[in-house]
Amino acid sequence: MKRLFLSATLILLAAGCAQNKPAEPQSTAATQASARPINTKCPVDHEDVDPKVTYLYNGQVIGFCCEKCVPEFQKDPEKYMKDLK
Ligand SMILES: [Zn+2]
Repeated sequence: MKRLFLSATLILLAAGCAQNKPAEPQSTAATQASARPINTKCPVDHEDVDPKVTYLYNGQVIGFCCEKCVPEFQKDPEKYMKDLK
């Protein structure tokens, strides 16, 4: 029973990031977001940033590739800020 639950969780996690993400040209991003992220790569898993998924940290707008990466970042922001690109 427990083993079944575990594998279901793993599948959910694996499907989390970068699923069915349409490749959008950078030019459309500027019209959607009032504050643009300072980074171009998701600090958590280094995918391209989705400008709709942002989090304000120390007055800086941090972009993420998907919403699941935000709580990861919140767990240890300093670690991720170090290699922000
Ligand atoms: Zn991500």
